[in-house]
Parts: sequence; structure tokens; C-alpha cells
Amino acid sequence: MTMIRLALACAMLAGTATPVLADGWDAPQEPFAIYGNTYYVGPHGVSSVLITSPQGHILIDGGSPESPKAIAAHIGQLGFKIKDVKYILNSHEHYDHAGGIAELQKWSGATVLTGRAGATVLSTGRTNPADPQFTNLPPTMAPVAKVRALADNEVVSLGPLRVTAHYTPGHTQGGMSWTWQSAEGGKVANMVYADSLTAYANKPFRYSGSPSWPQARAELERSIELVASLPCDIVISAHPEYSGLWERKAAADMQGHAGFIDTAGCRNYAAKGQAGLAEVVEEESASK
Ligand SMILES: [Zn+2]
Repeated sequence: MTMIRLALACAMLAGTATPVLADGWDAPQEPFAIYGNTYYVGPHGVSSVLITSPQGHILIDGGSPESPKAIAAHIGQLGFKIKDVKYILNSHEHYDHAGGIAELQKWSGATVLTGRAGATVLSTGRTNPADPQFTNLPPTMAPVAKVRALADNEVVSLGPLRVTAHYTPGHTQGGMSWTWQSAEGGKVANMVYADSLTAYANKPFRYSGSPSWPQARAELERSIELVASLPCDIVISAHPEYSGLWERKAAADMQGHAGFIDTAGCRNYAAKGQAGLAEVVEEESASK
């Protein structure tokens, strides 16, 4: 994957009146089991993950405004009910990961949980003016009901499920990564839903210093370090291809769910984020 491809992550297509999903992000994808009680239910290019329990389920991310029908159908196809989704978590407050949450919340009645900055955007439906991509983002999204802000490291509990919230700002101010454990065949895997770590800015925002968010670079660097340091057997990034999910799925199709395990996955994903940030900062200093 080239750095240019990475830099395009979550970017709006410039100059269009209506936001358009980048190539293939909303392409169809059959749902599949990843490990134990963890399932992939998103479209092909934007992740959505279901963590199940007899006491109800937790859904991470709702895709774009185009995604809810497919996500709900995938949940049904796997034998679960959208009404049993009790919590919806978000990676970050951009339309391609959060734009479908309002509808999924309505259908499920779930409580929506994310960090403080993301909760403000989701509940008001208004884009954060400090967003690095602000000038190229749609100004509003459908406001989401029943949003509650979590503190850093807070644990979401539902029956036997425990999912930990990690503040990972940088791509946006509200960026969140999520960790839990899933077990299969007596083996426990440390699962990580890693937020986008891409430094992507639209003018006039600069990662090396913008009045709206002077600490953006430092915060992204801290988030990159945090993701690299997480106990991590299976990483799923907000855009699945950036953490090699499709290569690992091909391995899993051959050898079973162990094919999804890559203990270097979080470190490699973080390293790509770091390389992308270095490139952006260098470009910014060249265009002073
Ligand atoms: Zn984004």
C-alpha cells in the first residue's frame, strides 16, 4: 500500500457538493466470523464489528449513511437480531464510520458510546470546526439519539462482555480505539479495533500547528504509540485494508480463525500511521 493511498483515508473527494465514498468503501461484503464471539458485519471498505453475548451485543461503527441496511442484514444473516444490540461504539466522528449510526440506533434502541469530542459531534450532528478535514467535510450528519460520552479507559460492560475505551485522537479529536478479548477453542485472543491513525488535513489545517487544534501532531503521535503498545493478537482497523484484514481473511479461509492472528498487527499499523504523519509534516514544512 502506498503512502498516497493511506493519505487518502477518510478524505472527502474534493470539490463535490455531496460527499462521495472513496472507491469501493461501501462495496458489498459477506459477513463472517473473525474469532469467538467477534464478527465482521460492515461493507467491504469500512469496518463494522459485532461482539455477541447471550445478554445482548455490542456493535462498533455504523459505516456511512448508505451502510445501515447492509449491516442490519448481515447481523440477521449471522443469526443475531439488531434489537439485541445494546451498545453502539464509534471509532471516529466522520461520516464514513458514524454516518450510519443514527439509523442503526433507531432500529436497535441501543445506547451510543464514544469519547467526549465524538459524542458532541454525534449528538448535535454538527462537524467539529477543529477537524483536520473540516473544510472538506459535510457540515452536518443525522444527529444521533442516546449518545453518552465515556472517559478514557472506561470499560463498557454487557453480560460477560468487557470492552475498554481508549482515547486515540489525531485523525480527529474524538478518535477512539477499543479492546476486548474473544475466546475460541479454549484460546483467548486480545482483540483491537484500531481507529484511523492517518494524518490527513485539508487547507488551512496543518498538523504542525493550527490555531484550532495546536496539539494535533503531538496527540496523534501519542495515539500511534498507544496503539503500538496494546496487547494485540487480532487488529481490525476502521478501514479494514489498512491493517491487512483481507490478506488475513484469505489465510483464515485456508487454516481457520487462527489465520486472523498477527501479533505484530498493531505495531505495523501504528508504524504506517507514523510514516504518514512524518510525510505530512515534511510536506507542511516545505510549503511554509
Ligand atoms: Zn476519518
